[in-house]
Amino acid sequence: MSVEQEIKVKCLAMGARAVGIASVDDINRFAPEGHRPDDLLKKAKSMIIVAGGEPSAGAWHAGTHRTLASIGYNRGPMASAARNLSVFMEDKYRHFTIPIPSGNKDGHQPYISLKLCAEMAGLGTRSMAGGIILNAEFGLLFFNGVITTMELEPDGELEEPVCPAPSCVDIWEKKQTLPCFLSCTDCLSGELKDGKIHSMTFRQDRCYTRAQSNSQDSLQQMLYEAVKEPNAERRKAILFGSHFARTARTVAYSSEVSAQCFNCMKRCPYVLQQNDGMR
Ligand code: SF4
Ligand code: SF4
Repeated sequence: MSVEQEIKVKCLAMGARAVGIASVDDINRFAPEGHRPDDLLKKAKSMIIVAGGEPSAGAWHAGTHRTLASIGYNRGPMASAARNLSVFMEDKYRHFTIPIPSGNKDGHQPYISLKLCAEMAGLGTRSMAGGIILNAEFGLLFFNGVITTMELEPDGELEEPVCPAPSCVDIWEKKQTLPCFLSCTDCLSGELKDGKIHSMTFRQDRCYTRAQSNSQDSLQQMLYEAVKEPNAERRKAILFGSHFARTARTVAYSSEVSAQCFNCMKRCPYVLQQNDGMR
């Protein structure tokens, strides 16, 4: 078994649904200065990207947004897998590693774009649904990764884009719309040409206020409101109210919630295929 295979088997055993390897040179073709793997780890050569934590088929099927968004998925397991992989690689191969979480370095600026790394590791391609990386087998996945000084054979980008799905191209040709657009006319727009993405606009400012009302930012905002509130009864109502309780629980359960309300994904063919053969 090659070293690359050995690492991938380990990642799958730690709960990853999919795993890919990207070269730092490929990532650096697109990543801006300050957000490159070798800005964080000198002489970094490769990144291993673990993917998983996605909503279960049952969560997609639940029919209530709250079930799907608050308990249907979890970003925590892939962060743990990346940390465990980092320890495994340093112990076994004696190369430096750093696990990269999905959290942000400053405000909404990530340490490194895990979406870019996932693309460079062949785990999917950008989609019309706000640039979510779509995986042909699993649909929506969440990513974490490990940067290493170890030179590994990269998987590289996929040759063919995952989005749009063939059925979406048919819909576009007949109606000039897409399943994801129909779910979120506020945030998403764009155009297909010759069966491929031609342009795409994602209004993150609108998505953020609609989709992240249980996020870490909401928790901080509500705490700030509570601290400022001079009336003890109203302060208590903020801190013991259902919105604060749900937000605290969501942040704790999912490690970190930074997106989404998932409506744009619910009718995506790559998500609907998860229902095949389910009872
Ligand atoms: S996550 Fe929700 S608000 Fe954001 S683009 Fe998707 S459907 Fe729109
Ligand atoms: S529904 Fe899914 S596959 Fe179809 S265009 Fe939208 S994101 Fe792409």
